[in-house]
Amino acid sequence: MAVQTIAENTTSSVDLGPAAALSCRECGERFELGPLFACASCFGPLEVAYDLPAGSPEELRKRIEAGPNNIWRYAPLLPVPADVAEKPNINPGFTKLVKADNLARELGVTGGLYVKDDSGNPTHSFKDRVVAIAVEAARAFGFTTLSCSSTGNLAGAVGAAAARAGLRSCVFIPHDLEQGKVVMAAVYGGELVGIEGNYDDVNRFCSELIGDPLGEGWGFVNVNLRPYYGEGSKTLAYEICEQLGWKLPDQIVIPIASGSQLTKIDKGFQELIKLGLVEEKPYKIFGAQAEGCSPVSAAFKAGHDVVRPQKPNTIAKSLAIGNPADGPYVLDIARRTGGAVDDVNDEQVVDAIKLLARTEGIFGETAGGVTLGVTKKLIEAGVIDPTLTTVVLNTGDGLKTLDAVSATSQATATIKPSLDAFRAAGLASA
Ligand SMILES: *Cc1c(COP(=O)(O)O)cnc(C)c1O
Repeated sequence: MAVQTIAENTTSSVDLGPAAALSCRECGERFELGPLFACASCFGPLEVAYDLPAGSPEELRKRIEAGPNNIWRYAPLLPVPADVAEKPNINPGFTKLVKADNLARELGVTGGLYVKDDSGNPTHSFKDRVVAIAVEAARAFGFTTLSCSSTGNLAGAVGAAAARAGLRSCVFIPHDLEQGKVVMAAVYGGELVGIEGNYDDVNRFCSELIGDPLGEGWGFVNVNLRPYYGEGSKTLAYEICEQLGWKLPDQIVIPIASGSQLTKIDKGFQELIKLGLVEEKPYKIFGAQAEGCSPVSAAFKAGHDVVRPQKPNTIAKSLAIGNPADGPYVLDIARRTGGAVDDVNDEQVVDAIKLLARTEGIFGETAGGVTLGVTKKLIEAGVIDPTLTTVVLNTGDGLKTLDAVSATSQATATIKPSLDAFRAAGLASA
């Protein structure tokens, strides 16, 4: 991993609001804000450290509630300048938290079941949250090209955000992604490069590019801007608690690709507790993977602390990261909170996509199928408690992964435009 020194790319005048420094998740060493992602001493991942806002929880809550209906209402808790909402950005967030009573009935959940539906973001996945934060870091550090290694959704989010921000974009994806993801990544007019390999090959390639003069002036949202990018996922935690009336859920089920989202949702809950915005109480975090790419689930079940990489083979391509960067931290969080990590096969993924659509009118992508599939499995296994408040994430839109359900979702009948033909089809109401 290439480590850039602070002097090369930062000045102390960087304004990212309450962000004070980067600190190493492993050894705690602090660094000036800059496009760094690994600790110069121990190579541990860097995280944003804050001067969190002073004042009473009531004041802060009021300030947030008076903010815009997007993630910028939480600007005082994010590494972004105070005037962020006035800049051209795609303004993601404040997506619906749907009380899923039909689904709850079907799954036997009595404690309240909610779907946080992030398909409602501007490019129809949760990735708009992380990219919006990374754009502010890219602007602050003077990058002119926005880039990423992507399993699909990130490429589209970067393309759109760069277009709005007036930055060039050049994004990298595995060459064999779903058509919907490819089109979404290309339509915003940036460069899109298909790499002959899987996501882990793409990511390795991007790490090489960062260390090479070819990648100079490039902000890779999930590599050299990763500490900032990750903070975007905290907004899911903030929104869920605010939408529950400033309360923590008892249980939450989160899909895992690199594991960044899951670890940052936990960080978001912890910050809300520290700030007094929610009452402290235990919560359990559950992680969901597809069987065909389940390195974290396998490690959890085996009781291991390290994650052994896998070669992905699943229809849940947005989660197909065989060597997840935040895997060990996900294991820590699942164990510390009394949660679990589990996986479901592709057939169960498809069944869960259709279950969510049939019961709640929400068409999720394969990642949503993975998350609901694992939720169902863990309820049946008695691991998720049906008497507690439970939130399930749907992180993307089913229109992007039509192939998963197209074989089994077709017209019930095709008929001539006549009442006789309709009668013969046997579909008239009784
Ligand atoms: C990227 C992605 C995730 C999870 O990503 P992490 O790398 O674990 O943060 C979940 N769902 C969808 C749809 C995604 O695109």
